[in-house]
Amino acid sequence: MGLLVLVLLYFLPAIIGHNKRDALGIFLLNFFLGWTIIGWVAALFWACTSRSCAPVFMFAGPGRYCQQCGTPTMPAARFCSSCGRVI
Ligand SMILES: [Zn+2]
Repeated sequence: MGLLVLVLLYFLPAIIGHNKRDALGIFLLNFFLGWTIIGWVAALFWACTSRSCAPVFMFAGPGRYCQQCGTPTMPAARFCSSCGRVI
C-alpha cells in the first residue's frame, strides 16, 4: 500500500501530463530524472505548463493559500483555483 502510494507520487508528473502534447518527454524526464528532486519538480512543472495550474505553481512563493483546501493561489486571485472559495 505504502509502496503503491510512493510509485503514484513518483509518477505524478507523468500522470498529470499523460494527455499532453509532450507526454512522452514528460514521462522520460520523470522516469530517468525523477529520483532527483530537481528532475521531479521540472517534470511536474513541464506537465503543468500546458494546464491552468502552471500560474499557481509559478506564483506559489509570494502568493497566499486557500484556507479551505490549502491550494496556493496567485496574489491577485480572488477565488481559489481549486475549490472556487473566495480568498
Ligand atoms: Zn481551495
